[in-house]
Amino acid sequence: AKESGKGRYSFSSEEIERRNHEVLDMHIKLKKALEKNEFKLYLQPQISYKQGIPTLVGAEALIRWETSEGIMFTPDKFIPISENNGMIIPIGEWILDEILHIHQQLKDNNILIKLAINISTKQLEVCSFFSKIEEVMTLAAAQELMLEMEITESFLLDDIHGARKTIQEIQRYGIKIALDDFGTGFSSLNYLTRLPIDYLKIDKSFIDDIASDEQKSIVPYIISMAQALNIQTIAEGIETQEQMQKLADYGCSEMQGYYWGKPMPLETFISFAQQFKES
Ligand code: C2E
Ligand code: CA
Ligand code: CA
Ligand code: CA
Repeated sequence: AKESGKGRYSFSSEEIERRNHEVLDMHIKLKKALEKNEFKLYLQPQISYKQGIPTLVGAEALIRWETSEGIMFTPDKFIPISENNGMIIPIGEWILDEILHIHQQLKDNNILIKLAINISTKQLEVCSFFSKIEEVMTLAAAQELMLEMEITESFLLDDIHGARKTIQEIQRYGIKIALDDFGTGFSSLNYLTRLPIDYLKIDKSFIDDIASDEQKSIVPYIISMAQALNIQTIAEGIETQEQMQKLADYGCSEMQGYYWGKPMPLETFISFAQQFKES
C-alpha cells in the first residue's frame, strides 16, 4: 500500500486482486476441509473442586483443523476468517452434529458430563441455526445430552431485549448459556442482572495474576457477585496449583486449564476421564 498523504493509503489494483483471491481461496479451502472431514473437536476437562476433592463435570469442545498434509491449525487461524466469509454457519452445524457423536461415545464409556461448545455471534443471527438446534436436541432428547453454549459479549451489546429473547429460545431446549471471556469487554455488569445467564467464564487474563497480585485481583468480587445473582462461575486458563487453590478458596464453581488438562482428542479424553474417576 502507498501512502497518499494525510495518512491515507491506496491499494494498487494488483493488491486488491491478490486480497480478493486470498479471501476466495480460504473460502474454498474451508469448504473442502468440511467435505473431507478435516475438522476435529478436542475436549478440555472442566473440574469442580470441593473440600479438596476434584470431580470431572464437563468438557469444552475446541475446534482444530488437521489438513491431509498433517498440518494442524488452531481456531485463531480460521475461525475469524470463517466468521467473515460465512463458513462459520456450516462449520457450526457440523459442530452440533459432531457433539452428538461425542456424547454418544462418552456415554458408551459411562462418562456422563456436560459438553460446552463455542458459538459465534454470526451463528446467532441466522434462522437456520435454530432449526439445527431443534434437530439436534430432538435427536438428543432420549440421550441425556447436557449441552452448554458459550457466547460472547459482542452478541449482547447491540440489543439487550433481542439477546434476552434469543438466550431464552436456546434455554427452552434445556441448553445452558455461558458468557465467555467475562471481564474483557466493557458493559458487563449492566447486562448480567438483565440476562438469564447460567454460567460466567472468568477470562484467563484475570487468572494469570491471581496468585502474584492477590491484593488487586477482582476475581473474588466477580465470584461473589455471580453467587448473588445465582450464576455459576468457571475460571479458565488455570495453569498452577497456586491459582487452583486460590480459586477454590474463593468458591469458584468450576475450573478449566492446563493444570487440570489440555484440550485433547476424544480417545485421549476417554482415558483421561477413566483415570480421573479412579484417582
Ligand atoms: P476460548 O473459548 O476462550 O477458549 C480457550 C482457549 O484457551 C483455547 O484455545 C484453549 O486451548 C486455551 N487454554 C485453555 N486452558 C489454557 C491454559 O491453562 N493456558 C493457556 N495458555 N491456554 C489455555 P484454542 O483452542 O486455541 O481456542 C481459541 C479460541 O477459538 C477460543 O477461545 C474460541 O473463542 C475459539 N474457538 C475454539 N473452538 C471454537 C468453535 O468450535 N467454534 C467457535 N465459534 N469458536 C471456537
Ligand atoms: Ca470458550
Ligand atoms: Ca474463554
Ligand atoms: Ca477467548
